[in-house]
Amino acid sequence: MQYSMKMKDCNKCDTKILETSMICPNCGVYQADEGHFGYWLLGVIFPFSSILLYFSLKDIKPKTAVRALKGVKFSIYFIIATVSAYILESLLESIFSHIFI
Ligand SMILES: [Zn+2]
Repeated sequence: MQYSMKMKDCNKCDTKILETSMICPNCGVYQADEGHFGYWLLGVIFPFSSILLYFSLKDIKPKTAVRALKGVKFSIYFIIATVSAYILESLLESIFSHIFI
């Protein structure tokens, strides 16, 4: 008698594992690792705690960890863009006030 067990490849190391496996026995990576949008959003709203989240997830849920990190990057770019727009605006304002007054 032969058991028919469905196998699949691990998301990370391509080891043959059972289709029902949640975690790869070889590399320990979670198989349900879609990197949902929610983690990106979490990175945008809570960049500092999401950096910690990235380091705790990067070995077991790499896609999710990267998604959170992308949110953090977006948040940092947004802050930089806002600050530079503010600086540019005040700079232009002082230049124009010298020219037109
Ligand atoms: Zn694996």
